[in-house]
Amino acid sequence: MRDQTLCVVRPSVSQEGFASLSVPTYRASTIVFPDAQSYADRKYRGPDGYSYGLHGTPTTRTLEAALTELQQGVRTALVPSGQAAVAVVMLTALMPGDTVLIPDTVYPPVTGFCENFLKPRGINYRIYDPMVGAGIATLMDSTVKLIWTESPGSTTMEVQDIPAIVAAAHKNGALVGCDNTWATPLLFKPLVHGVDFVAEALTKYVGGHSDLLMGAISVRELALHRRLKDTLRMLGIGISPDEASLAVRGLETMGVRLAHMSRVATAFAERMAKIAPAELVLHPALPHCPGHAVWKRDFAGSSGVFSVVVPSGAEAALPGLLTAAKVFAIGASWGGTRSLLAPMNVVSDRSVTANVHAGTILRISIGLEDPEDLWADLAPIVATIADAAQAPAQRTAIRST
Ligand SMILES: *Cc1c(COP(=O)(O)O)cnc(C)c1O
Repeated sequence: MRDQTLCVVRPSVSQEGFASLSVPTYRASTIVFPDAQSYADRKYRGPDGYSYGLHGTPTTRTLEAALTELQQGVRTALVPSGQAAVAVVMLTALMPGDTVLIPDTVYPPVTGFCENFLKPRGINYRIYDPMVGAGIATLMDSTVKLIWTESPGSTTMEVQDIPAIVAAAHKNGALVGCDNTWATPLLFKPLVHGVDFVAEALTKYVGGHSDLLMGAISVRELALHRRLKDTLRMLGIGISPDEASLAVRGLETMGVRLAHMSRVATAFAERMAKIAPAELVLHPALPHCPGHAVWKRDFAGSSGVFSVVVPSGAEAALPGLLTAAKVFAIGASWGGTRSLLAPMNVVSDRSVTANVHAGTILRISIGLEDPEDLWADLAPIVATIADAAQAPAQRTAIRST
């Protein structure tokens, strides 16, 4: 062979005796075939075979297989973000004329997707109270083909009775999807409770270092995976093996990270509930939290994200207190090593839940820093909240449980 060819056609080297603990990053667009017949038959390789880099590489399949085992499902499909995971489930499960039910506490961009993308294409949505439980049956009609759940709810942390919702949905011929980003499969396994699609933003705890965006959809039945893979192929959606390898690496340490974050977040929530009125602290491990009993029944623990209601009397001081924080960063996405504070205003996102706090709710994501340094940042915030809550006129209306 001449030089130009030698630049392209490499000699093969032995892999004999090379065993690494890391998952190789296999980059590929083209997949090559050993003979013309294999190429002609490539479409019969099915969703588990290799046909084109977009549809999977050994790197992405390794991550999918690991997530499938953790979720106790049958297959997992990777997508470029958590939002894409939710959207792809809805695009797969719903046709024009169908209806999806979404909880009032859903990750807000999901409502935007339903209103601005699905609705103009003839797919309807209705919003339900996340605490509805078996009462979801009364909201169903023959057009309802998917019930979406997210537990605990975004920012306000209501824990949903997923088994009750699944029972009602399946009895009435609807599928159930669950956004399990907060819990991860280490703390809750929706598929085991009968959920059909579980969506996870791997961006958060699986990635774990605030440097990658990815989503995953795990399913309970093979037929649903085939339908998802069809949707992804039609839309041309795939993920990069480089990012998949970062997620594989993140997954290895997720257990210890989550255990630490859970311990610190729960201790902080309990400490805050002793200083400020307990009902201002929104954390599923606190007995007053909506769905606390269901959380104890269904979840193996809590992760590192919870919230505190900021009474109106403390609103003015909050921006200064946030800026003064030395260790906490201010930001929205969570699940990384760095602790975050995110002031949220949810009232405009809620339409069917009574008594939602109209002002700021401070969302707290615990990272891996020393807890005493974190508490030094939180202490003045909690003290300000406690002071404001004591003034009778400032007593904040929050949801009755
Ligand atoms: C962050 C998040 C998402 C979206 O994930 P991205 O990867 O940022 O698109 C979806 N659901 C929940 C509960 C989230 O926290």
